[in-house]
Amino acid sequence: MTVTDLTVVAAGERLRSGSTTSTELVEAVLDRASRTEAQLHAFLNIDRDGALESAAQADAELAEGKDRGPLHGIPIALKDNMCTRGLETTASSQILAGYVPPYDATVVTKMRDGGAVLIGKTNLDEFAMGSSTENSAYGPSFNPWDIGRIPGGSSGGSAAAVAAGSAFTALGSDTGGSIRQPASLTGIVGMKPTYGTVSRYGLIAFASSLDQIGPLSKSVEDAAATLETIWGHDPLDSTSFSGEYPDPRAALSKGVEGLKIGVVKELAGEGYEPDVESAVAEMVEQLHSAGAEIVEVSLPTFDIAMSAYYLIAPAEASANLARFDGIRYGHRADGSTTEELMARTRAEGFGPEVVRRVLLGTYALSAGYYDAFYGQAQKVRAAVQEDLERAYQSVDVLVSPTSPTVAFKAGDRVDEPLSMYLADICTIPMNLAGDPAISVPIGLDGQGLPIGFHVMAPALGEEVLFGVAAEVERLAGFDARPEIPVVAE
Ligand code: GLN
Repeated sequence: MTVTDLTVVAAGERLRSGSTTSTELVEAVLDRASRTEAQLHAFLNIDRDGALESAAQADAELAEGKDRGPLHGIPIALKDNMCTRGLETTASSQILAGYVPPYDATVVTKMRDGGAVLIGKTNLDEFAMGSSTENSAYGPSFNPWDIGRIPGGSSGGSAAAVAAGSAFTALGSDTGGSIRQPASLTGIVGMKPTYGTVSRYGLIAFASSLDQIGPLSKSVEDAAATLETIWGHDPLDSTSFSGEYPDPRAALSKGVEGLKIGVVKELAGEGYEPDVESAVAEMVEQLHSAGAEIVEVSLPTFDIAMSAYYLIAPAEASANLARFDGIRYGHRADGSTTEELMARTRAEGFGPEVVRRVLLGTYALSAGYYDAFYGQAQKVRAAVQEDLERAYQSVDVLVSPTSPTVAFKAGDRVDEPLSMYLADICTIPMNLAGDPAISVPIGLDGQGLPIGFHVMAPALGEEVLFGVAAEVERLAGFDARPEIPVVAE
């Protein structure tokens, strides 16, 4: 095992026992990235000098006995839709090329306050719209398990970086599945927290009522450590939760004895790969043997959740993206009138998927169609929430595959938006509900590609969620690492 394979928890132990330094950890991941980035393209930007400087500071503090918590001195990566002061932030869009934010997102401030060392900004689908990173204006990322395949998306760069060992933990954003699906496809843990618990201040908005930042990590405990560092009430986000936060670590070693686990009937069958279904069924069996009661649960609205999502998310996106007008941020095209300048800037700056979403959203919100499309979708959203409330009266958590398939080949779905959209069929309902969910790797399929297990819990149910996830991790015993064809030194 090399240093870059260590979990945050293991690296933290070495840091505190004095057997390694943050500078050594940073040098190890930078070296790893220098030998894998040509194949993976996980990062848009690596801040070598900034990372080494922060590492030196983290080391000096630890030497003085100042401990900022579990991420102190740990190399981390951030999806490039989170604003970083002084560091270019593009959301993988041409329209933000060269944009250097004058401020840090709240999660970035919290990471810095927690002593984490930022290695760089990771690739994503433009404005987080997509499931493969192929919608990035700066070229796709590739999967460490097979560089002919995509790492999922939209947080594919963060997933690839953590799976490859170029960061110990990373942040992504999840609007319809963009943390959990790439985590599943790259064999790591990905978690979407309860809506409102992680501040969206400084996150470049896609669909504000669905967007949530969360961790992509090598273990369930690492994900908990990352979540603890970034969450909490923030007056700068009007939807921030101000009540009492759960303890994601409280149930980590509790097991599942006496818990009731619901297997979602609708998230199976046609479109699901047999290896995915059998791995998930086997894990459900193991959870049963470990003492959980298993029941099948039907949530009929899950079948129409995706259609509602593809009205609500584009509708919100069309409003959020109105600010990219060539006047305030980034790219500016020529134009003899303000209107012409704005129209040209947007035509040049936005990629085809973003244009599709803005058109869809504008249409869904237009007078005369509003009730038929947006209004209808909001009713479905409420029905999904009611369905879940009913389910949670009889079960503690719900489970399903995270993704119906393993990582697909680069190029396979780029011309078929609908098949790309289907990648999130299992994850979208949790965004509509605002509930927390996590993907845990449970094994490899016949081709050696990772399979993820999806656990869902009621709002603020992070304690039981992490408890079940930790048991899934123990039962699966998944410790395979990808073999990336590295460039020789
Ligand atoms: N793939 C979904 C979409 O394209 C979800 C994206 C996300 O969660 N950011 O909208």
